[in-house]
Amino acid sequence: MTQLATAGAPLPFAGVALDRAGERREDPAWLRAAWERAAILLLDDEGRAALEAGGTALRRLAASDLPPVAFDSASFLGLQGELPWFALAAETGSVEADGWIDLRRAAAELDAFEAGVFAFARGLLHWQTRSRHCGACGAPTRRERAGHTARCSRDGCGIEHYPRTDAAIIVLLTQGDAALLARQSWWPAGRYSTVAGFVEPGESLEDALRREVQEETGLEAAGCSYRGSQPWPFPASLMLAFRAEVRNRELRLGEELEDARWFTPSELERALQVGEVKPPHAISVSHALLRDWLLEHLEPARVDAALNRHRPPR
Ligand SMILES: [Zn+2]
Repeated sequence: MTQLATAGAPLPFAGVALDRAGERREDPAWLRAAWERAAILLLDDEGRAALEAGGTALRRLAASDLPPVAFDSASFLGLQGELPWFALAAETGSVEADGWIDLRRAAAELDAFEAGVFAFARGLLHWQTRSRHCGACGAPTRRERAGHTARCSRDGCGIEHYPRTDAAIIVLLTQGDAALLARQSWWPAGRYSTVAGFVEPGESLEDALRREVQEETGLEAAGCSYRGSQPWPFPASLMLAFRAEVRNRELRLGEELEDARWFTPSELERALQVGEVKPPHAISVSHALLRDWLLEHLEPARVDAALNRHRPPR
């Protein structure tokens, strides 16, 4: 299976060793017992997670730290070995914490498991705040299955709503020995990345890729290969990463892009070295796509030296 990686490790938020134990979501007695021995992750209303003293790991609350009623609004995430994990929303200021961390910082600073569990929790809780009413009839919903479904409370409707995931394609375009990097006007100065866009209703991934490439660059993708995926819970995306060869290099930029440029591997290395180009954020699949391509042409030490020049200090 294709699996993109960042410097040898799985992509942030991907490959998390949590057993989601979906069958337990409908087992109230088991959930209640699990709660008593669980690690409980607290998220504030901005989607940040509480940190433990020292600020290097997530704060893991125990049921005894919380009022009994907290169980009713908690969401079961899964099992890490024998350890159950739950997530709980807390209003900012209602809980003492040594600090709060957002998801982007967590991906860079916490261990992979904690960052992944946090991403799952944040995605689920964000969906819960957006599904308090039935999208079909407008009546209030109630959460079921330990936080994983929202059922309409109105007799005669009763629709079940599920957390949504928005598929997006992200693609490194190549033509011969060069790859295309592009930027949007609102990005930080010098930041370039790959082409990306959401999949629309009625589209396959390949259709969406061809359309986005055409709309944004005027180029025609001749074929594509799947390279890997990454959950991107900002707030609910799944990034599906591809490499695609285009027929020629004549650009006709759409409204979204401010600039797009072709680089050979050594041209890109030089542009990164002198700071003319800043790579996509190190936690992103676009960074991994770019690294993967550069590694086919340059020594690994040169690739990482060029890409990491802009990695923020930890
Ligand atoms: Zn309804």
